[in-house]
Amino acid sequence: MQWETVIGLEIHTQLATQSKIFSGAPTAFGAEPNTQACAIDLGMPGVLPVLNAEAVRLAVRFGVAIAAEIAPRSVFARKNYFYPDLPKGYQISQYELPVVGKGKIEIILDDGAVRTIGVTRAHLEEDAGKSLHEDFDGFTGIDLNRAGTPLLEIVSEPDLRSPQEAAAYARKIHQLVRYIGISDGNMQEGSFRMDANVSVRPVGQAEFGTRAEIKNLNSFRFLEKAIAFEVERQIDLIEGGGTVVQETRLYDVAKDETRSMRTKGEANDYRYFPDPDLLPLEIDADLRAKASVDLPELPDAKRKRFQSQYGLSEYDAGLLSASRELADYFEAVARDSGEPKLAANWVGGELMAALNKAETEIAQSPVSASMLAGLIRRIKDGTISGKIAKQVFEAMWNGEGDADAVIAAQGLEQITDSSAIETLIDTIIAANPAQVEQYRAGKDKVFGFFVGQVMKASGGKANPGQVNEILKRKLKP
Ligand code: ADP
Ligand code: MG
Repeated sequence: MQWETVIGLEIHTQLATQSKIFSGAPTAFGAEPNTQACAIDLGMPGVLPVLNAEAVRLAVRFGVAIAAEIAPRSVFARKNYFYPDLPKGYQISQYELPVVGKGKIEIILDDGAVRTIGVTRAHLEEDAGKSLHEDFDGFTGIDLNRAGTPLLEIVSEPDLRSPQEAAAYARKIHQLVRYIGISDGNMQEGSFRMDANVSVRPVGQAEFGTRAEIKNLNSFRFLEKAIAFEVERQIDLIEGGGTVVQETRLYDVAKDETRSMRTKGEANDYRYFPDPDLLPLEIDADLRAKASVDLPELPDAKRKRFQSQYGLSEYDAGLLSASRELADYFEAVARDSGEPKLAANWVGGELMAALNKAETEIAQSPVSASMLAGLIRRIKDGTISGKIAKQVFEAMWNGEGDADAVIAAQGLEQITDSSAIETLIDTIIAANPAQVEQYRAGKDKVFGFFVGQVMKASGGKANPGQVNEILKRKLKP
């Protein structure tokens, strides 16, 4: 039997507002427990929620970015359930009428194929608090700082067909929310959490299989691994004569497996009803128009422009437009140096390797865009070779100044004076008569030996083109 995997993702992304979605309490991460929850977040009797206009603006911005329908009128509903970190006993969310309706996202797969994935909806809701199970001598601590933090839940159609596609889609959403500045997307701080709905069906069958939902994944790698495990589990289960039950599962990172958390009841267990404390949300054409005017260049457009404007490959264009910060940096280097191809190679190569190694972000790079452009100019005008340039880059990275300062201080300027190179070559030839004989007897490989010796004698500074040319001439029988 051949099986097809079907996946739909629900992504919770924290909106970048200063205050909560229904109160004025701050949303900053990392404060002392229970110092950022006010009476409204605590669900005290008699308080009333007031909708945060900025949260609405950010949600609309997302909708416009994915060319989705923006509901002129949407409704907040109470989703009722009991949990210790949910003081009101219900979460305010949107149910039947979400603010953002159908839209779509394009993803590029590893083989370069492009797929369009449907977004079903995106709705505004508040986050719950957090239960802390450590450090309390067997008790559980409750931190309500996060209660009432604005979230946008982005729900995909069941259009994804493999763990890799699901990860590509999630990465794309993550890239987009950061590009348009609606969320910092910080996964360690819980600002971007993914739930994966997974089912399998025999290839050719029209109906979907029963799905299981894997909750709260906070890395793309774990998302991929959790789905891959779940697919195998479901296939083994069905082939062994069992049936998949609709349930919520947790992914155990250490064991690389999913485990049943609770079997999921009907959706109406939540007894959704419109929140009587909140008016319907009305979005007028002005707000919508303003959101689309305010949008920056989006990732797809930037990638395509990088290809056409700078002649980059699709891969390089994708790499360099991964984030706005990186894209801006690359464009500054390209502009300053006048060498977009070299700029792409250096930003995508040496610089990114150094950033990765130092586990730091482009904004913290000790080598600024203008410093890197300065280095590229020196390669271009022949002051240094590409190889020496790596040495200069490392020195710049270590705070030894800009390219010209490093070149001067370390005396790295390329030797292009042909009489100086000739002198070097004469010395090497005189010192290696046996190799000269071998070369002249037809052993071409020995040529590389001579190049190596000359470069070494020059401290890597001799112009390689000239070295080759003069060596050839001098070694001729
Ligand atoms: P609920 O409200 O119970 O979470 P939804 O119908 O809103 O259910 O679906 C939630 C997510 O599950 C969506 O992303 C949807 O694409 C996905 N989904 C629905 N049915 C399936 C299925 N059979 N297999 C995989 N994913 C599914
Ligand atoms: Mg769900």
